[in-house]
Amino acid sequence: MMNASRKFRVVKFGGTSQATPERVGRVLELIQATHQQGPLAVVVSAAGPTTDLLIEASARASKGDEDMATGLVNQASQIALTNARAVLSGHGEVLKVEAEVEALFSNLRKLLYGVSLLREYTAQSLDLIQSFGERLSALLMAEFVKSRGVPARFVDARDWVVTDAEFGSATVDWTATRERIDAQREEWAPVVTVHTGYLGRTPDGRTTTLGRNGSDYTATLLGRGLDAEEVTIWTDVSGVMTADPDIVPDAYPLRTLSYMEALELATFGAKMFHPRTMIPLMESGIPLRIRNTFTPDAPGTVVDTLGNRDEGSATSVTSLEQQALVDVQVQRLDARPRIAERVQRALDRENLTVWMGTQSAHGQALSVVVPMDQSARALQALENELRSELENHEIQPVHVSQPVTLLTLVAEAMGRSVNVAGRMFASLGQVGVNVLSIGQSASSRSISCVVPAEETHTAVQAVHDAFNFSHQSVAVCVLGKGVVGSQLLEQVRTQAALLKRDNDIDVRVVSIADRTKVVFAPDGLDLSAWRDRMLENRPEDADQTNGPLRIETLDRLKRLPVPILVDVTAADGMETLYRAAFERGIHVVAANKKPLTIDTEGRNALLESARQNHRFYAYETTVGASLPVIETLKNLVRTGDRVNLIEGSFSGTLGYLTHELMAGVPLAQAVRTAKELGYTEPQPQDDLSGLDAARKALILARELGIRVEMTDVKLTPLVPEAIISKTDPDQFFSALEAYQPEMEAQLQRMRSEGQVLRYLARIDPGARERGEPILEVGPIPVPQDHPSSRLRGSEAFVAFTTQRYAEYPLIVQGAGAGGAVTAAGVLADVLRIAQTLRGR
Ligand code: ASP
Ligand code: MG
Repeated sequence: MMNASRKFRVVKFGGTSQATPERVGRVLELIQATHQQGPLAVVVSAAGPTTDLLIEASARASKGDEDMATGLVNQASQIALTNARAVLSGHGEVLKVEAEVEALFSNLRKLLYGVSLLREYTAQSLDLIQSFGERLSALLMAEFVKSRGVPARFVDARDWVVTDAEFGSATVDWTATRERIDAQREEWAPVVTVHTGYLGRTPDGRTTTLGRNGSDYTATLLGRGLDAEEVTIWTDVSGVMTADPDIVPDAYPLRTLSYMEALELATFGAKMFHPRTMIPLMESGIPLRIRNTFTPDAPGTVVDTLGNRDEGSATSVTSLEQQALVDVQVQRLDARPRIAERVQRALDRENLTVWMGTQSAHGQALSVVVPMDQSARALQALENELRSELENHEIQPVHVSQPVTLLTLVAEAMGRSVNVAGRMFASLGQVGVNVLSIGQSASSRSISCVVPAEETHTAVQAVHDAFNFSHQSVAVCVLGKGVVGSQLLEQVRTQAALLKRDNDIDVRVVSIADRTKVVFAPDGLDLSAWRDRMLENRPEDADQTNGPLRIETLDRLKRLPVPILVDVTAADGMETLYRAAFERGIHVVAANKKPLTIDTEGRNALLESARQNHRFYAYETTVGASLPVIETLKNLVRTGDRVNLIEGSFSGTLGYLTHELMAGVPLAQAVRTAKELGYTEPQPQDDLSGLDAARKALILARELGIRVEMTDVKLTPLVPEAIISKTDPDQFFSALEAYQPEMEAQLQRMRSEGQVLRYLARIDPGARERGEPILEVGPIPVPQDHPSSRLRGSEAFVAFTTQRYAEYPLIVQGAGAGGAVTAAGVLADVLRIAQTLRGR
């Protein structure tokens, strides 16, 4: 005998858990194991698709299609018989059970025959017909359990679930139901009772059902009546997931959830629960556990009063697809009063399912979400209700957008943690999803919004990631695979795991592009084989097998979480691409100076585009590679300091060259080495001309707010123009060699005067008033004690003389050229964006 003082457990198995003999086998193992722990009541629903088959059979019968109805019923009986024969094989009971199945089905056939004669079926007869499915499966399950040597008994729950006569969705009379449970619990305790789910009976003896998927509700009613320890729903998913796993592959089961959250989820599309399931639990405080029959050792999700103990962590995102957004816009303010109320009433009268209704703060616009298949009726109802306002043009024609998706974020902690809505909409903004309407539920446990149907996946994924992962992922597209590009890819490859572990930042390079080819892999490219990948043509690259990056790639990039376009080319005209990126919600990190040195209008428009689209445009590496030159300057300006002079050796390349020249290395040789080391621009001419240094000076000057053009720079090249203008590499290097004697003579003169050759830039904001050039860039002999004289190798330095740093300038100095440091600076910009977004 069981110890009567031990608490009951209630477990429920759904249709899918009984779809095949193999699954039934699992169920039996679980029942046996749970039975060891104390008194056990089992609730089962109809096996597999039985309920759907019976509903369809009724519909066919009512149309006189008896053959079809019989066929469907036979399918249902086949499921039952297959299970029975397999599970009971070797047990003498098979024949007895087959006879019982047959008896039930012959009654069912008679009923359907009646329906086909009457050509009519009512909600009442439909409930009775459906009851056969649940009765059959409970009856069989009781036999199955007995066949395993465990005492069991079939219980027809109609004998204890007392309901009203609302067929199809009956309401339970709890007082009467409880009395019946009380009267039988002593009998139930010693055996495993197997109860039908879903069914009830009116006091005058008619069969009812509790609404589709109602057997969970039966289980919680029983749990409450028996004052159970816990109610377990065994199903084929591992609990309540953080999102639909078909949409979000990273979705995972929540450990805990409150009743209220579960209710909210049920309301907003998680197909997990029949909303009424929670009522008996809320009233009794009994926990509900959802577990997976396929992974019985996993803890599953517990639904209880407390819910999520960790305020910072997981919540769930649901999406209801195939919805319609119906908009009512009031034109004239005096027409405003009571419109919302009337809209509500008109929809209520039609019995429409209204998911969400929102009203703009001023009451001029109001929108409701209804299922798409009800939108025509909704439109009709509103047009009727508002006819006179429409005719008088007091309101605009009612507008319906469909299909749309209602996306809902559910979080118990929502009310307690700050800025949930902000984070939700920021995450949608980051992936460029257009939010059509917003609504917060009265419970403040959820917040919903409407997005276009085609954005469903992107939107759910973005919101899910924003709330469920501590790590911030960024999807990077790298333009350019030269010295800096390859270094960057290498750095990401070697550091990605660390960044994820230590900084919670997941950097994924999803695309690499050069002048002739774009590769794209939304889940991230394998960075140990990217060179080979660039030679392949994969279907995912199909929209641009050949040719440079096009807008299509941006359109794909923008779908990924936190997309960043990284430009490590020196190409002209990239500003057009950047603007297209900003407009698509893509951030830009650039080492490319050109877009910042076009005419002032163009440059300002570019920065304005970033601002307007709330995108980051990070370009720290355009001056002094990864040295914090721009950041320092921005901070000075931001904090109200006044910059009087910026002076420096902006070009690590020219710094290196002048250093080598002073040390006696011939010019041509020094340039060659510099090029090999990746210190120069792709065309070393660009460095020698001073153009590159001039661009940097221009970038800084503009950062100060000075309106200045490239043509305003007083630029003197390191070597005469005639050499620089040679584009052919061989001719260029011969010319450098030919210039060597003259160069040497100049250097000799400087040495004898104790001077050092440096290539410097000066930005003097006050110079214009004195009629002098604001920007000057060129080779200058400096005395031994000048700060630039101590520069070694490719070191760069920038000195800011400001109101605050008047006597001793603020100096930023360090390695200022080279693929590795530039790449590191670019990566730092990427990480800064990720970090800032995570903090939001
Ligand atoms: N068999 C019923 C249905 O399919 C009840 C349930 O499965 O919970 O809706
Ligand atoms: Mg079911």
